Amino acid sequence: MLKNQSPTVIIRKFIAVLMASLVCPLLLVALARMIGWRIPWGAMTLPSAIMLTYVIVLSWRLRDRLLAQAYAFDHMPDGIILVNEQLQTIYANPAAKRIMNLGRSGHQGDLTVAELILQHDNLLSLWEGGWQGHSAVDLEGRHLEVERIPMQMTSRRSVSLVVLRDVTERHRSEQELIRQATTDGLTRLYNRRYFLEKLEEERQRCASTGSMLSLVLIDVDYFKLINDTYGHLAGDRVLQQIAVLLQEFAGENGVAGRIGGEEFAVYWPGIDGESAYRRTEELRMRVLSEQPGLEEVADGTRAGELQYTISAGIVELDESHKTLESWLEEADACLYASKKNGRNQTTLAMKRKT
Ligand code: GH3
Ligand code: MG
Ligand code: MG
Repeated sequence: MLKNQSPTVIIRKFIAVLMASLVCPLLLVALARMIGWRIPWGAMTLPSAIMLTYVIVLSWRLRDRLLAQAYAFDHMPDGIILVNEQLQTIYANPAAKRIMNLGRSGHQGDLTVAELILQHDNLLSLWEGGWQGHSAVDLEGRHLEVERIPMQMTSRRSVSLVVLRDVTERHRSEQELIRQATTDGLTRLYNRRYFLEKLEEERQRCASTGSMLSLVLIDVDYFKLINDTYGHLAGDRVLQQIAVLLQEFAGENGVAGRIGGEEFAVYWPGIDGESAYRRTEELRMRVLSEQPGLEEVADGTRAGELQYTISAGIVELDESHKTLESWLEEADACLYASKKNGRNQTTLAMKRKT
């Protein structure tokens, strides 16, 4: 009967039955006087005795329930912290102490929920806004999901139950899955699908705001010859080294991707075609002078035999590029022009007059 009752319900029953057991003899005495009967003392106290027995049973049940809850709180993997309105800790279970003190030595009891909340803007704003729900924070190398459940204790006093879930491992695997889905395994640059997705987003943004946006397509010249001369693994190494240069070349503002076997692309928001051209020429000269990767991968006797170069095509976004495809096609045509005119060069699309 009582099995699924919460401690709150049991406590309410406990109080009600206890009160009834105290009031019952008085009521019986009053009743006996009213109707003029003499009720034996034993009969008068019998209902109270039954009720008090029930109160004892209830107290055992309550004790069992509270012990079970305390055990569950002590052994659950989630951190549970009860804080008052001043952000002082009223209760914290062992998991909360462990999670909160990660990386810190010794201070098992020194919980600073206030610190956690005040340090993280996302938590603070949610807290101040009377938030009820989830948020995520990075705390000392761990990724935590934090849930706040406000509880009104009395009309004046409220507390909050803060649930801390250490989801570091899950978060790591999610990040890893995202990384695998969006990047190319060999070069670690964005893969074609993701790069084009981002490029399209940026194209639409710049088309609506009128900001400048330049796209560079890069292709390694005679790459097949590198494979044929030094082997496929050496070719891979060259691609990796070019990718490192390209990442540096894209800088913080630009985005680089590998969009084909030995084809790469970079876009820069806020950069016009001429500036993109100058940057690409710098990159082309750097590849030429450094020959990244070749010395390291080649068989010693053949190192330096093969010079490799890159060709590039650049188009600055303008009103004529109604779709991503039309923009890419024009960039591809510029790259093709660089190839056709002898490779190892950069072609910038002429700006259209509108
Ligand atoms: P072009 O100057 O006209 O671009 O000549 P190319 O030899 O660079 O171009 P082509 O398209 O004939 O050859 C590209 C080669 O790139 C063919 C392909 O085997 C090689 N390739 C594509 N992906 C990879 C890769 O991941 N690793 C290696 N090592 N080679 C690759
Ligand atoms: Mg190619
Ligand atoms: Mg090529």
